[in-house]
Amino acid sequence: MSFRIGIWDHCRYVVDREKPYDEIARHLERMRKAGVTMADIYLPEVPSLDDYCRAAANCGVDVEARITPEWAGQGVIKRTLPEDLWQDMEKKYGIRLSGPCGNHPGNRALFVAGAENLIKAYKGRIKSLHLDFIRNDNALLLLDYPCQCEECQKLNQRFFGTKTLTPEMLAKPAIAYKVVALRNENVTATVQEMRRISRENSIKLTIAARANYIDSADITAPPVWGLGPAVLEGQDWVQWLEKGFIDEAFPMNYHTELDKFQSLVDDYLRLLGDHAYKALYIGVGVMSSMGVNPPEAVAERLQILKNAKLPGAMLFNKINTYDDNYCRIIKEFAC
Ligand SMILES: [Zn+2]
Repeated sequence: MSFRIGIWDHCRYVVDREKPYDEIARHLERMRKAGVTMADIYLPEVPSLDDYCRAAANCGVDVEARITPEWAGQGVIKRTLPEDLWQDMEKKYGIRLSGPCGNHPGNRALFVAGAENLIKAYKGRIKSLHLDFIRNDNALLLLDYPCQCEECQKLNQRFFGTKTLTPEMLAKPAIAYKVVALRNENVTATVQEMRRISRENSIKLTIAARANYIDSADITAPPVWGLGPAVLEGQDWVQWLEKGFIDEAFPMNYHTELDKFQSLVDDYLRLLGDHAYKALYIGVGVMSSMGVNPPEAVAERLQILKNAKLPGAMLFNKINTYDDNYCRIIKEFAC
């Protein structure tokens, strides 16, 4: 049985941004030798996608293009709040988190148009399209600080008779339900558009999924600020897989405590049933905001995934370079 190991790749390590081919090729060749067969490249930081695709093809690595709603361009509308609420958020949580608004139809149009141009231009060179941050940011801060952009205000006006929801209104179950339902419908509509263009261009569609889907182990303290729950952010990835809106999901299970990692794996297997065996590539953290998993910890995790008969795994490493000890572990598991 095969076990595919992919990497969430980025090009921050490239020094010569004008002529990046050699550096990219060296990195990809090294990873391919270790057994990696798929590289999911973060487009906003790749100096030349042409070079990247050429280097990958030359050493037999499949390229997956990773895009985010923010990548779509200058006109993206982000979470909009009055200044007093921004200050309140910063005081309570130590951050001003203003990701793109998932309810905004203009954001959807920009994102889908950008993705369509990309996959047409790189037809035959890109195997799959990967949606990162396909959600609202983030569960913890959405509870108290839902977006107040023009489009969100229109929705509020229609469903609740007011442009701005008060904390008292948000505490009512029916209102809270509808706020979350609208959020999910709108992000799902974006995913369905991506499904349409990926089918038209015969490439796969995958996503980086929140580790915590609905009630899994979570970390809500900085610098992580919560791992979900995905469904509160409009990212119902279990449903997306079940309905065939996406081909594969890579939940970002970067926990450094093994029992937490294992409990999330158990949650995914319970949630997905048979879908897990063809579509679930769980993300393992090498180095992330959640901390470092040394080579032996990565090995333990890959063993759990292999024992569960899953089709593979994804590695995330924010520094992107894998020393020989990590390469040896990858080699041991990849097949
Ligand atoms: Zn909004």
